[in-house]
Amino acid sequence: MKRKIILTITSLLIPISFLSAQQKPKHEDTEFYSPVPKVVTPGKNNTDIPSDAIILFDGKNLDKWVLTDDTTKPADWIVDKKIITVNKKSGNIQTRQSFLDYQLHIEWRIPKNITGEGQLRGNSGVFLASIGKGDAGYELQIMDSYNNPTYVNGQAGSIYKQYAPLVNANKLPGEWQTYDVAWTAPRFNDNGTLKSPARVTVFFNGFLIQNNVELKGPTLYIGQPSYTQSHGPSPIKLQAHGDKSAPISFRNIWIRPLN
Ligand code: MG
Repeated sequence: MKRKIILTITSLLIPISFLSAQQKPKHEDTEFYSPVPKVVTPGKNNTDIPSDAIILFDGKNLDKWVLTDDTTKPADWIVDKKIITVNKKSGNIQTRQSFLDYQLHIEWRIPKNITGEGQLRGNSGVFLASIGKGDAGYELQIMDSYNNPTYVNGQAGSIYKQYAPLVNANKLPGEWQTYDVAWTAPRFNDNGTLKSPARVTVFFNGFLIQNNVELKGPTLYIGQPSYTQSHGPSPIKLQAHGDKSAPISFRNIWIRPLN
């Protein structure tokens, strides 16, 4: 009798524990390693500021930026020699102003002496709409992807964990690189449901790397993204990533609102 009970309990437990191990999401579930974007070689063009652009960083100060986790405080990343360098201790920063649809230009540079591997090498990012503290929002990934493999939908130019870039247009660490972005914000109905998803087009060092892709929702590190939070115009946010590699720099940031 005793043996029968034990057998019955065991036969019940095995499928349950098997199922929970199968169903618990892991970060690896949403990391893909193929197909690997083709490596291409960027040209040496510069981009001038259009006459109707709002200059978000003019080389002098961060007056147009605040700390993401306490927006009453000014951004305290390091400004020197007309460039901004990430202050990892202070966390993410974002624009005071909010935007709906826009054209954005931003330049970034991985330190020449960068160390680390995979995601832990020069990681930062541009959140095309910041929808809360920390990393809440839609991330266009920044990291060193010059000869530094990682999951392809997490490399530089990816819409993080959603779309790999069409090509790998990275320059060497130490060189300035450009993102030119056309962002269409998501729209929501009055009851909070999704009316139309966000769309984005991105040029990386002059190469088209995201061609009007439809975002599945705000960026998620673990799990499948979806639109669970309705929002209107939002700030642009830059990421202070917690990796141990040297902080990256930014310069020449401007935006042209389209509404
Ligand atoms: Mg990042």
